[in-house]
Amino acid sequence: LLNRAESYKTTCSYCGVGCGIIVHKDSNGRISIEGDKGHPVNRGMLCSKGMNLHYTVADQTDRLLYPQMRWGKNQPRQRVDWEVALNRAAAVFKTLISKYGPDSVGFYISGQCLTEEYYLVNKLVKGFIGTNNIDTNSRLCMSSAVAGYKMALGEDAVPISYDDIELADCFFIAGANPAWCHPILFRRIEQHKQKNPQIKVIIVDPRKTQSCALADLHLQIRPGTDIVLYQAIARILIENGAIDQEFIARHTEGYASFRASVMQTSLEEAASVCDVTLQDIRKAATFIGNAKGFISMWAMGLNQSVVGVKKNVALINLSLITGHIGKPGSGPFSLTGQPNAMGGREVGGMANLLAAHRDLTNTEHRKEVAAFWGVDKVPEKPGLTATQMIDALHEGKMKAIWIICTNPLVSLPNATMADLALKKAKFVVVQDISMNSDTAQYADLLLPAAGWLEKEGTMTNADRRISHLSKVVEAPGEALPDSEIICRFAKKMGYHGFDFKDAAEIYLEHCQLTKGTNIDVSGLNYKILKNKGTMQWPVPLSNQKGTPRLFTDKRFYTVSGKAQIHTIDDGFNLSEPLTTTYPLILTTGRIRDQWHTMTRTGKVNKLKQHISKPFLEIHPIDAIPRQIAEGDSVIVSNKRGSVSVSAVLTEDIKPGVVFLPMHWGRTFGKDFSRTNNLTNSLLDPSSKQPDFKFSAVEVKKY
Ligand code: SF4
Repeated sequence: LLNRAESYKTTCSYCGVGCGIIVHKDSNGRISIEGDKGHPVNRGMLCSKGMNLHYTVADQTDRLLYPQMRWGKNQPRQRVDWEVALNRAAAVFKTLISKYGPDSVGFYISGQCLTEEYYLVNKLVKGFIGTNNIDTNSRLCMSSAVAGYKMALGEDAVPISYDDIELADCFFIAGANPAWCHPILFRRIEQHKQKNPQIKVIIVDPRKTQSCALADLHLQIRPGTDIVLYQAIARILIENGAIDQEFIARHTEGYASFRASVMQTSLEEAASVCDVTLQDIRKAATFIGNAKGFISMWAMGLNQSVVGVKKNVALINLSLITGHIGKPGSGPFSLTGQPNAMGGREVGGMANLLAAHRDLTNTEHRKEVAAFWGVDKVPEKPGLTATQMIDALHEGKMKAIWIICTNPLVSLPNATMADLALKKAKFVVVQDISMNSDTAQYADLLLPAAGWLEKEGTMTNADRRISHLSKVVEAPGEALPDSEIICRFAKKMGYHGFDFKDAAEIYLEHCQLTKGTNIDVSGLNYKILKNKGTMQWPVPLSNQKGTPRLFTDKRFYTVSGKAQIHTIDDGFNLSEPLTTTYPLILTTGRIRDQWHTMTRTGKVNKLKQHISKPFLEIHPIDAIPRQIAEGDSVIVSNKRGSVSVSAVLTEDIKPGVVFLPMHWGRTFGKDFSRTNNLTNSLLDPSSKQPDFKFSAVEVKKY
């Protein structure tokens, strides 16, 4: 079998668009890939990252091939076998748990984990170790959207499907640059507009990004003023009678209070706060008011904020007052940054969530999950979130952390703090494919994991679409699938319930646990996914076709069945204050051809050709008084640290704002190029998502 040329179906493992890929393996085992022309998401298209994905499989230069362990912090790590590695891990975790309690340990995982892996870690931690200290890098990505959806719709549920794109005639894209960060999704909007030039695209962003090339209107707002803008648009829609009174009356609650609230800020004042013209705000409201199909899309610009949940709710309000939900071409659509952030949410793989979108605060829900897993209880107290775990390690309250498939030493805010915390931890386990990531350097135990194409599993993309990923090649060295590592560790801990024949069996257990919930996928299994292709949840036994669009019956998942229009206070901004010493706003983001902390894309030569080194975007109005010219080395600094990069002078960024890409750490740069040396530790009080998009800095010529 291995010597035959074969083709396999899988899904791109970068962004949440979830493009289908056909992998060809020739008779010599060589891999090539192409976009899956029959796939409902990408219809054969792939972006630059996706079409070069197979090179990351072929490149084994920094591949972690066998377990490595050190007995003391000052000793070098040495190769050990799996038995020694997992016996030590179990011995350390048992000792810490018995001495300091289960909350003394934590697991930090990733939106790139497969659903089966996510499910198992969640079961291990919440069901057996007895703590909710399991969080994921999705906390940095979309936890504000989760909270926003729950508040407005009663459930963390993206209402629409990519197929609604071709049915919409107005797009409101806020705090996102899909041209670079969700390219195939953006390509579909582009193609739709090419065929239908009358459709309107509104972009809201302090930067004039590549996505603005498609925009009929770019609202280049002052960072942090999003809510004021949405409220002003709402006011104009209300005053113009461009709202859906019948939908509001029959299917929502909270409108009267919301209406009174948005009338309190004059439109002139809103325009001044947002630093855009009133004429442009009116234009946006007119586009939305005239639309038959209105889709809002957003990403990190809204979510990564100290008021991220409120921004989400304020934007969803625009869909609710215009009745643009549960019908073709309409709905609020949060763009997930990672390939399986949604799958992680399904299994409850975050510190404040419970399996299958059950409620961790609900006693009955916890009992259901505990009974299913055959354990006494699932702990009630929410666990520590991503940055709270780092704080707890730093304060000595948490003793050990197990990090899977993520590189927090580059991606967490105020990353110098993460350095200190991991140095102070008694025991750090890093489970990864790379042995050279910034985080791996802190590991007491390094466990080699199988990567993309080396294991089987499922993922759920941004439009709730579940896809099966095939195993195509064997993992190198002694690397194992993450699910296998977790099961072996659980058994070393003496826990039952981790004997699975294969990944399909793990998936079935997850599916059974969703039965009767809003995300019921009890009608799914690997055979169906392989034979019928991808499917959007819910997929209950009674309807195995999947559900492209939610809320078509206008019944929401709230207690009353009505969507909630929340009144949002727009009168304050809790982000880090600017000072005379640090007068510029730093915002961060992605570039087109790199992914997260570059542990995969950083090794692909073709992807380095686009932008090969970190840079700072600064407006000439800010650069000239600082005597900074194009290409100059500059130091960006604040009280937390500094970063040294080359300056790019551009009028595409708002004066007073500077931009750094988030990708480079030490492995692919130097100490001085890690953007998160500068970002602050402030969190949204509800979602606990960090405020990456607003840190006070100064820039000087180096
Ligand atoms: Fe992969 Fe996203 Fe590009 Fe599609 S758009 S190929 S999922 S990175």
